[in-house]
Amino acid sequence: MAASDHDASRKDWDTYFMDIAYMVSTRSRCPRRHVGSVLVQGKKLLGTAYNGAPMGVQDCSEAGCMIVEEWEQKLVDGKSDLVKKQRCIRTIHAEQNLLLFTDRTDREGSTVYVTDQPCWTCANMLANSGIREIVFDRPYPKDSDKVMKLMEQKGIVFRPLQGYEPPAQAGMNVIS
Ligand SMILES: [Zn+2]
Ligand SMILES: [Zn+2]
Repeated sequence: MAASDHDASRKDWDTYFMDIAYMVSTRSRCPRRHVGSVLVQGKKLLGTAYNGAPMGVQDCSEAGCMIVEEWEQKLVDGKSDLVKKQRCIRTIHAEQNLLLFTDRTDREGSTVYVTDQPCWTCANMLANSGIREIVFDRPYPKDSDKVMKLMEQKGIVFRPLQGYEPPAQAGMNVIS
């Protein structure tokens, strides 16, 4: 075995690309959630994106979050209930920006690393984008069931990164 194989400080590829996604997420100016995503083809980084307002438009740090309230189906004490939730809709999600800033030909057969499990809309768009695998860290239970079903139907590998710890300087508490 080569000496480098014993180097415990050397990051595996999953950790390497997820760390980059977290560093990208620090660019986000929405205080509610910082999301970062990267597009990887083979071991090549082909794009990075985070959640934010369209370019040249005031973002959440300047104009405040654009909050909407929605009713959500949620399990409360074992039974399904409607719960009112707040959501910021000012930003384009990281995964959608990633699709806006990469080429279809680059995406065919690629992998997306994203700090947060994609919401339904992002998952639906990713499913039609040519990518073959989605790796995420923080769970997003709200849309999980339908997103997993969609990924199964599309034959897209959809996996949480087990035992992963984000870089300390990129972690944040998510307001959910
Ligand atoms: Zn916001
Ligand atoms: Zn989304």
